[in-house]
Amino acid sequence: MSKDQTKSIFNYLNEHEHEQLIYCHDKELGLKAIVGIHNTALGPAMGGTRMWNYTSDEEALNDVINLSMAMSYKSSLAGLNAGGGKAVIIGDPRIKNEKFIRRYAEFLNDLKGKYWTAQDVNMTSEDIVNIKKTSRYVVGLPKEHGGLGDSSVPTAYGVYLGMKSALMNVTGKDSLSDKKILIQGVGKVGGKLIDYLLEEGSKIYAYDINKNNLEKFNRSNIIILKEEDIFKNRYDIYSPCALGGAVNKDSVDQIECDIIAGAANNQISDEDIVLPKLKEKNILYIPDFLINAGGIISVYHEQINDLDTKKVMDMTSDIFDKVTDVLKFSSENNISTFQAAVQLAKDRINKVSEK
Ligand code: NAD
Repeated sequence: MSKDQTKSIFNYLNEHEHEQLIYCHDKELGLKAIVGIHNTALGPAMGGTRMWNYTSDEEALNDVINLSMAMSYKSSLAGLNAGGGKAVIIGDPRIKNEKFIRRYAEFLNDLKGKYWTAQDVNMTSEDIVNIKKTSRYVVGLPKEHGGLGDSSVPTAYGVYLGMKSALMNVTGKDSLSDKKILIQGVGKVGGKLIDYLLEEGSKIYAYDINKNNLEKFNRSNIIILKEEDIFKNRYDIYSPCALGGAVNKDSVDQIECDIIAGAANNQISDEDIVLPKLKEKNILYIPDFLINAGGIISVYHEQINDLDTKKVMDMTSDIFDKVTDVLKFSSENNISTFQAAVQLAKDRINKVSEK
């Protein structure tokens, strides 16, 4: 590595306000992982491990940096005593086996609890259970293994309440009855969100890249869309619940809706182009890290050994008021809702750091 490359890594960390980056490597097992620790002022860094066949190390680094930063903001806004971190394992998820995962868990042990992991894209409950065999620094375990179980339940609940709060702030009424809502990605969170919305009488439009997942939702009150038709309708709410980057410089021109509120992490890409465009189109964006906090609230309770589902759901229900706070701060300061949420999250972190 050249002198310039080393320097640029520290510039990069500085620019993204990161405390630590840890590269983990086991040549024999083909294990390559990066742990990103963004900020630990409020508590140990928490965030899931994702496995992805990244096209380059740089792509993996960008992903872990952005995701771990969002985790700090998420935990801060949710009022948790937890910092932000995330890990990515680089490679085809099919190479995983118990030995591979337990070797990864040894790397987590080296961090002595500065970073706690949980499940993320392409990591299964079995992987999480296997990590637990080697490391105590893992949360999001199935109930039969001493955890609080599927975190997508509180996540979907928080997104649902975030939608209601957004609507309340825009129209003075929080009813989602008859509202046209596009759910993009009907996986664990998107599927449960649909249940809440159907109960309230919303009109659901659904799309998923996986036809089998979509087929399960082929029932009354749900209109199944083809990919090319997603943005042909106007919606009251567009809810990205698949992967990140759904609201980007290309899609923002096509999206016609009043509110964007979804579960997917890091929905906005090309921030400099997208945020002004949303303003111009009068689309209210509810930041993902504000409303998808149900999952981190759940795994945080595991980390502090308080296995009380009711407490998790009660704390998740605060998302309704927190959305109101962010919208108020945004309009008072004439900044985007995204910037308002980041500022409020940073304010809490900075307050603790100053002590
Ligand atoms: P999941 O894997 O169960 O569901 C994702 C769904 O999106 C799948 O059905 C997949 O086929 C679909 N999908 C993938 N790419 C797509 C595309 N381009 N267009 C349409 N559909 C596509 O994941 P999940 O647990 O439901 O999580 C959904 C999102 O919410 C993810 O971004 C995740 O990081 C985020 N999130 C989840 C939780 C949680 O508790 N599960 C918490 C916070 C945030």
